[in-house]
Amino acid sequence: MSDETRLIHAGKSPPAPLARTVGPPIQKGSTVLLPNAEALYDDEAHLTYGRAGLAAQACLQEALAVLEGAVGVSLYPSGIAAISGALMAVLGAGDEILVVDNCYKPVRRFCDRVLKRFGVTVRYVDPAMPPETLVGDAGPATRLILLESPGSLSFEMQDAPRIAALARERNILTAIDNTWGAGLTFKPLEHGIDLSLQALTKYVGGHSDVFMGSAAARDPALVRALADGVDNMGWAVSGEDAYAMLRGLRTLPTRMARHGQSALAVAGWLSAQPEVAAVLHPALPGAPDHELWRRDYKGACGLFGVVLKPAPEAAVNAFLDALKLFGLGFSWGGFESLAISCDAQLSVRRHRKAYGGPLMRLHIGLEDPADLIADLRAGLDAYARLASA
Ligand SMILES: *Cc1c(COP(=O)(O)O)cnc(C)c1O
Repeated sequence: MSDETRLIHAGKSPPAPLARTVGPPIQKGSTVLLPNAEALYDDEAHLTYGRAGLAAQACLQEALAVLEGAVGVSLYPSGIAAISGALMAVLGAGDEILVVDNCYKPVRRFCDRVLKRFGVTVRYVDPAMPPETLVGDAGPATRLILLESPGSLSFEMQDAPRIAALARERNILTAIDNTWGAGLTFKPLEHGIDLSLQALTKYVGGHSDVFMGSAAARDPALVRALADGVDNMGWAVSGEDAYAMLRGLRTLPTRMARHGQSALAVAGWLSAQPEVAAVLHPALPGAPDHELWRRDYKGACGLFGVVLKPAPEAAVNAFLDALKLFGLGFSWGGFESLAISCDAQLSVRRHRKAYGGPLMRLHIGLEDPADLIADLRAGLDAYARLASA
């Protein structure tokens, strides 16, 4: 045979069995080779195409199912794709969805620009509503209630277990964006929520360098609907990215404990500073919704809000610009500390709340909290100079 042919077919068989490493092999493949002609159309017994994911994706799905206490987990190329994907998988024209008004802003965009176009009615509900009122507000067409608790900008919580129980009585599905709890400090499926959604991009990845999302469910019909949805939309995640997520998952509890501990140290210090009006970390004793957090959560994380005493916008910018250890950037869940101002994102809300001053959001990374506190003090000094000017 000529070199053209020999080079196509040489070096095709890795040593069998493959050497075992602590991580899964990263297989790269669109084509999956089948053992015989009959297997080509036997989808039940064989994986026939690489889009569904190969070894690393399967290992990640299995590990996430253990984390979430799920029967099945679907993977998506981003967190927002997990939320849009799960909604597309279960909603149809004529359905109504209730969405908490504190939802992640791109979720609102998806609901307004896509769901509505496909005949789904979207209603934004006040996240502070008692569960009875919220579920009582549902109509005959309401198919699903989407929660985000704590809200990732304003940190108010919903009584998710109670809402799930009331919704179930009325045959309404519940889903939660649980990126804050990461399937670790809060396990939605154990509390009766039907769909646990998260941006793995944040704490599971843990290094601010990979995008992925997941949707987990217990009900086999929902697990099937999610998987079909991924298939129908043609989404795929790469073996490299799945490998990176699985690596992040190994250290999730250790990192999360440190993020939570440091965040509470910083939050406690902040609440005693003269420039601070309120600290919005549900795990901080005395903070809003602390009792709900204490009842349902096994731990804290590094993300929380801070309301400063009223001052001109220039003071807010001076605070952020004076920070040296906190990066200014969206996203969170990585090893590094971040800060943003939030007010510009609140104007789209229907049920606006007066915070009584500028709302800031901090992500506390894995640095020494004493160094972060010194950095924040310098920021607050800059704030105070312009607040009184
Ligand atoms: C970041 C984030 C998402 C979206 O995740 P991506 O991977 O960036 O698409 C969804 N929900 C919350 C609460 C988030 O913080």
